[in-house]
Amino acid sequence: MARSCLCCAHPERDSIDAAIVAHAESLPVIGERYGISSESVRRHRDNHLSPSLRALRVQVQDDKRAALVDRIETLIVRGEAMFSDAAGAGQSAQALNILRELRAQIELLGKATGELDDRPNVTINLLTHPEVLAALNVVYTELADLPDVRQRIAARLQPDRLQIEAAP
Ligand SMILES: [Zn+2]
Repeated sequence: MARSCLCCAHPERDSIDAAIVAHAESLPVIGERYGISSESVRRHRDNHLSPSLRALRVQVQDDKRAALVDRIETLIVRGEAMFSDAAGAGQSAQALNILRELRAQIELLGKATGELDDRPNVTINLLTHPEVLAALNVVYTELADLPDVRQRIAARLQPDRLQIEAAP
């Protein structure tokens, strides 16, 4: 414990530690509640949490990330099915709308995961994500009969544009 650490010296240190471990609030929010700068909370989190609290925090992070990924993957699977129906019925306008929604879900996944990671900058290569590859495969297959739409989408879904830079 560092003498200069405001969190360690704080009468409500246990509550601060609990808030850090719960990982439900941002560091500025926690800091503001206890009258401490977010940078001090971050330093305390990185250097002064007990090993057991640190392990618990990692577990909470992993659980939240898994739950989030599950939810968004479910949405992506539903979107794929809707897209297949719309494209199969020749409703290209509706199919395009569903594609936009799928793209939004993928971006949400990247942003949310970046936030949960709590690192200053996170790059997620979505092309390594099996659900994304499956979705794109469905999209390109279904678009075989709509070459103009297929070309427009391919141009907008360049691999480098699928890498989302998520700031905290
Ligand atoms: Zn501390």
